[in-house]
Amino acid sequence: MLTIEDIFKNFKLPLTKERKELIYRAYIFAEKAHRGQKRRSGEDYIQHCLATANILGQIGMGSKTIAAGLLHDVPEDTSITLLELEKEFGSEITSMIEGITKLGRIKLRESREAYFLENLRKMFLAMASDIRVVIIKLADRLHNMQTLQHNPPEKQHRIAMETMEVYVPIANRLGIGEIKAELEDLSFKYLDQKNYAYVKNIQEKFYKEGEQYVNEVIREIKKELDKRGITVSDIHGRAKHLHSLYLKLKRYEMDISRIYDLIAIRIIVPNIADCYETLGIVHEKYRPLIGRIKDYISLPKPNGYQSIHTTIFGPKGRILEVQIRTKKMHNEAEFGIASHWVYNEYEKKKGWRVLFSKKTAEQKESIPWIKQLREWHQETGNNPEKFLEGLQIDFFKNHIFAFTPLGDVIDLPEEATPVDFAYAIHSEIGNRTVGAKVNGKIVTLDYQIKNGDVVDIMTSKEDRKPTQDWLTFVKTSTAKTQIRRKLKRE
Ligand code: MN
Repeated sequence: MLTIEDIFKNFKLPLTKERKELIYRAYIFAEKAHRGQKRRSGEDYIQHCLATANILGQIGMGSKTIAAGLLHDVPEDTSITLLELEKEFGSEITSMIEGITKLGRIKLRESREAYFLENLRKMFLAMASDIRVVIIKLADRLHNMQTLQHNPPEKQHRIAMETMEVYVPIANRLGIGEIKAELEDLSFKYLDQKNYAYVKNIQEKFYKEGEQYVNEVIREIKKELDKRGITVSDIHGRAKHLHSLYLKLKRYEMDISRIYDLIAIRIIVPNIADCYETLGIVHEKYRPLIGRIKDYISLPKPNGYQSIHTTIFGPKGRILEVQIRTKKMHNEAEFGIASHWVYNEYEKKKGWRVLFSKKTAEQKESIPWIKQLREWHQETGNNPEKFLEGLQIDFFKNHIFAFTPLGDVIDLPEEATPVDFAYAIHSEIGNRTVGAKVNGKIVTLDYQIKNGDVVDIMTSKEDRKPTQDWLTFVKTSTAKTQIRRKLKRE
């Protein structure tokens, strides 16, 4: 059972009087509104609100988001209206709650595809107006997944499917690895019980034998790094999540002896230079496997993930993976977008102001939306409160999410056209474009795509070439480059 004290305890930002007061007030309000209501588990409904708020606190969200998390089911499940909430908590918190309520109203369509699309589209649209709504929805879903056993089997299956297809990709896109992996494993458990049990069994057996060994390697590496003057912020073993282990096993004919990262050793050091030095020291001590060094620091994964991975022959010749990263990279991998404002507040408190005032190598390698977030943050003059307020409207201001008729999301800049869309899918589709439909209606090729549009590109069967005037209206560099290339070749 959670209490409001747990929420305070797990709050990652400095707990000021104002913040504490707001969270407490939201709790009292929600508790009163839901009083007498029960969850399927038999628990008081407020437990769900507290659990949602607790997850939000753990990934570093601010007090307004936590207040909205505590209140997120009030308009839907009680007689209290949005208007009353607005009087009590103001428009910012209320519009977040309204956003969550809207997302909750998405109902099952005739076909599963339509339902899936609709969901995805709404999520992205909500994201475009306030990223925090999406994060609250993820926390809400995580607790619902954690308590899914209390539901009838058909509902379990439907919710798990939706989680896997809609929520997992969104958590991944936002880089919230913690929530993504847990949602994924919980869905896996309900969607494929047989394989889930199989993988879980393998893993448990492996850990029972492997635990002592890993602790031994950790001790050895730690000793070596200490000797060489490297500050080790943290060193621990990390277990591979079940669903990703399953996918990997499938790629390796279910042969567990070929999986080297079942347990990985994770080393967290202060800065990037330490990462590379640590890599060198580890390689001096243990021979690395050729071709298995992955430097995601200089080449981050598409969702921004950064780390160095290497696979080594450990003591007694056993093969295992070592991951090396900075504290900041670690927070980013676990908390995604939320890590940015937590980190910033703490740095500021210490008086460093590193993250947003100086360009570091880490910053330069960031993915575009994080970069955009940072630039925007600089404009607001390092004021965290203002920064958070601004996220509501500005975060995805220059982004458009459009959909293919099959439901793939294409991320475009503002004012992008069907031609940009076509080239974003594939250069050949771009080159063969003859027309476009948006939401079922024919549009001109210089039409400006809007958030949530479904764009259907009509292509010719024969080889075509783009026309010169496309260059006057396309917005993406991909389209420009491809058009020029094709024109030159013709
Ligand atoms: Mn809920």
